[in-house]
Amino acid sequence: MAEFNVLVVDGLEESGLAILRRSAHVAVQEGVQAEELLRMIGDYEALIVRGRTKVTAQVFEVGRRLRVVGRAGVGVDNIDLQAAKERGVCVVNAPASTTLAVAELTMALILSLARETPRADAAMKQGLWLKKELIGFELSGKTLGVIGVGAIGAAVARRAAAFEMKILGYDPLLSTEQIAQRGAQPVSLAELYRQSDIITIHVPLTAETRGMVDQRAFEQMKPGVRLICTARGGIVDEAALLAALESGKAAGAGLDVFAQEPPGKSALTAHPKVIATPHIGAQTAEAQARAAVDIAHEVLAALQGGALRWKVV
Ligand code: NAD
Repeated sequence: MAEFNVLVVDGLEESGLAILRRSAHVAVQEGVQAEELLRMIGDYEALIVRGRTKVTAQVFEVGRRLRVVGRAGVGVDNIDLQAAKERGVCVVNAPASTTLAVAELTMALILSLARETPRADAAMKQGLWLKKELIGFELSGKTLGVIGVGAIGAAVARRAAAFEMKILGYDPLLSTEQIAQRGAQPVSLAELYRQSDIITIHVPLTAETRGMVDQRAFEQMKPGVRLICTARGGIVDEAALLAALESGKAAGAGLDVFAQEPPGKSALTAHPKVIATPHIGAQTAEAQARAAVDIAHEVLAALQGGALRWKVV
C-alpha cells in the first residue's frame, strides 16, 4: 500500500508519473488555480510543479502534511523558499536535466548570429533573395568567452571546441585547474572582456551577478562583440546592451531570457541585431522527460528519507 499522496499540478511526462506511482498515490490536476490548490493541498505529502504554479507562503501554511515540493526543471523563482524553510518543507529541483538543451540553444544562437539565418529566412518568406547582403563569419579561429563554467558553460565549451573556437573561461568559484579541465583557458573577467569575439553567460542570477554585464563591462569589450545570454534575465543590464547595439560597440546579441518575461514589444527584442527566443532553453522533449524522471526519484527520496541530490532548501 502506497503511504504517500503526491499532487502534480503543471503536468509531468508519463516516464516520471510511472516512477511515482510505484510508491505513491498520484493525483494529476493540471492547470489548477491558486484557490483550488489551497483547497486541495492539505491532503498531500508532496507537490510537483513546473514554472506555472506559484507555491506561496499560504500554500505551505495550509499544506500541513506537505513534506516536499519538487520543481520539474531548474528555476525555483515561483516557490516561496523562505516559507518552505520556516515550515520545514524541503524543496528539490532537477538542474541536470536541462544542461544539454540549454547548451544546444546557446550554440543555435551563436550560429544564428554568425550566419543571420533568422533574417535570411524572413526575407525568403517575403520572396527576397539577399545573397549579396548576407555575408556572415566563421566560428573557427574566433574567441568565445564563457562567463560561469558550470554544467552548461562546460557543455557549451565542449561544443564550441568542435567548431575550432578558442575558449576562455571566467568563474571565481572554480579553480584554474577545474576551468581548464572543462575545456576553457582560465582568465580574469577583464581579460575575457578584452579578448572575446563572442561572450556567453552561464551564471545563476544572484545579488552579485544581477546587472554584472553593465555599461562598464561593455566599455571593456572588443568593438563588434556579440553577446549571448541563456542564463537569467537581469544579469545583463538591458539598457546598457541596447546602448551598445545602437552605438555599434556590440554587433549582435542572442537572448533567451529577459528582465521581464514576457517582455512584450520591447526595443531590445525588436532590434535588428538581436535574435530573441521566449525562454526556450529547457524546452526540448528530451529535457522535459529527463526532468520528470529526475524529479520523481528526488521527491520519492525526500519522502522516504533517502539521500538527496538536488536539495534547494
Ligand atoms: P551551475 O551551477 O552548474 O553553473 C553556474 C556556474 O556559475 C558555477 O560554476 C558558478 O561557480 C558560476 N558562478 C557563480 N557566480 C559567478 C560569478 N559571479 N561570475 C562567474 N561565474 C559565477 O549551473 P548551470 O546548470 O550551468 O546553469 C547556469 C544557469 O543557466 C542557471 O543558473 C540558470 O539560471 C540558467 N538556466 C537557464 C535555462 C533556460 O531555460 N534558458 C535553463 C536552465 C538553466
